[in-house]
Amino acid sequence: MEAASYVPVSCGVCSGHYLQPVATGVVPSCRSCGGAAAVLPGATYSEADVAVFDRIEAAVRIDLTSARAGRRLLAELRHARSAAEDPQTILLRVVDDLPTLSFLLPALCLRPTTRQDRVALARNTAMMMTILEARSRKLELRAASSA
Ligand SMILES: [Zn+2]
Repeated sequence: MEAASYVPVSCGVCSGHYLQPVATGVVPSCRSCGGAAAVLPGATYSEADVAVFDRIEAAVRIDLTSARAGRRLLAELRHARSAAEDPQTILLRVVDDLPTLSFLLPALCLRPTTRQDRVALARNTAMMMTILEARSRKLELRAASSA
């Protein structure tokens, strides 16, 4: 049996972002509240990535308070990736702005990074960018509707 692809979705009802299996051509229901959700652009993942996705989502929800900060961070991340900066350096920069994400760091600081670490970090960074983008958009919408 083929393993289901897990894709990031954004719920229009509870405003959460989740990594969940979505069948092609189906509007997903939010894993948390059952509301209609939209698939976010980006990579596909596996069930093993759900726990870290949830932690990144929770951290961004706590730490990101303005769309402007989110956009600035995204621009920095894009630049760092296109300049092929070391993923650990990129992450350290993000943690300055979003300190709750520091849970991604400790394992790396104790020993030299392996190829496997770098692959995992690159995947986590991609997840983070997807979540930051979606959260920034929600914050913009909220600001526009209260203006
Ligand atoms: Zn929901």
